[in-house]
Amino acid sequence: IEVVGAPIFTDRKLLKGAVLVFYDITEFKNVETMRKDFVANVSHELKTPITSITGFAETLIDEDLSNPEINRQFIEIIYDESKRLQVLVDDLLTLSKLEKEEHRLTLTDMQLSKVVTEVLPGFTQKVTEKQIEIVASIDDSICLRADRDKIKQILINLLANAINYTPQYGKVRIIAIEKEDMVQIKISDTGIGIPEDVAHRIFERFYRVDKARSRDTGGTGLGLAIVKHITELHGGNVSVESKLNEGSTFTVSLPKNNKL
Ligand code: ADP
Repeated sequence: IEVVGAPIFTDRKLLKGAVLVFYDITEFKNVETMRKDFVANVSHELKTPITSITGFAETLIDEDLSNPEINRQFIEIIYDESKRLQVLVDDLLTLSKLEKEEHRLTLTDMQLSKVVTEVLPGFTQKVTEKQIEIVASIDDSICLRADRDKIKQILINLLANAINYTPQYGKVRIIAIEKEDMVQIKISDTGIGIPEDVAHRIFERFYRVDKARSRDTGGTGLGLAIVKHITELHGGNVSVESKLNEGSTFTVSLPKNNKL
């Protein structure tokens, strides 16, 4: 609570009383704390790859360059870490654009099965490497009015996670069902699952169950925050059901006839 006060005087300039105004600034403080946390997180996330890039570049400058194998190894690390920075900055820009774009969705009518067919080829390489089976069974009759690029982004982020957090020979399924005026898209995997006590946190920016694992798979910790943001912009919601070591199912519910 913040208090602002002012004295009240009589006509003869004698103190008569005072006016005190109490402001409830809880909400403001929360936003302020979140903003500070976010800046701290971003700085930390940027710092890790930058430290690595500078360190390896310095070694290359200082050392004699007679061992081409080592040189190449260091250059590859510098390249990988630069890529990581690029993905991180792209995700940050996506989030910041989403925040600015409130109420500025480009709505079109679309057939969901078609959108899914368009994003699947992007995963061919990874799926083949890990020998993961992807099954998409979406009835051609399922249509919705939404922002096509953003729906693609949701599918890409959820599919990338399903594939990344599922071991070799696993299975990923995409189905969709119509429920009254909503379409529910369900993406399930037979992966590592999420511990029950932290499941509610995974949509927070930069929250990861296992930092090292997320890093190894090129994760930024922002994918699900982006999914949640896009879903809510459409007036929908996203949830997760998961069992440790068995798998997870993410459900995105979107209104069929968006009139936003
Ligand atoms: P990341 O870039 O780390 O994948 P996300 O925001 O996409 O970031 O996800 C946040 C965290 O939620 C991940 O680090 C991971 O711990 C967990 N997670 C997300 N999807 C899955 C999944 N399908 N199976 C298991 N864990 C998952």
